[in-house]
Amino acid sequence: MGNKVRIERICEFCGKTFIAKTCKTRFCCKACNDKYYKELIRSDRYNAVTKEVKEEKKKRIRLAVDELEVIQAREFISLKQLAIYLGVSRKSIYTYMRIYEIPFSQIGK
Ligand SMILES: [Zn+2]
Repeated sequence: MGNKVRIERICEFCGKTFIAKTCKTRFCCKACNDKYYKELIRSDRYNAVTKEVKEEKKKRIRLAVDELEVIQAREFISLKQLAIYLGVSRKSIYTYMRIYEIPFSQIGK
C-alpha cells in the first residue's frame, strides 16, 4: 500500500473531528452520511422544489383531463390527434386514462 495520508476533517453531520480516508469523505461514519441525506430530503428547500414539480404535473394532468372530457363529449378522436391536441406524448395519454379511469376503446383503422 502507498503512503497513507491522514486527513483530519469535521463531520458535516455531527461536527465531530475524524480522520478521513479520502479527501472526499464528508462524514465520520456511514450513519452520519445516511442521516445527513435523509435530513436533506426532509429539508424544506428540497420539499418545496419537489412539491412545486408535483403540483405543476398535477395541474397539467388535470388540465389535460378537462380537455379530454370536452373532446369525449363531442366526438371520437384518435390517440394521435389527442396527443397532438394536448401537446403530450401518446404514452402520457395512456397514463392519464389509467390514472383517471377514462374509458377508451380501440377502433380499427
Ligand atoms: Zn458524524
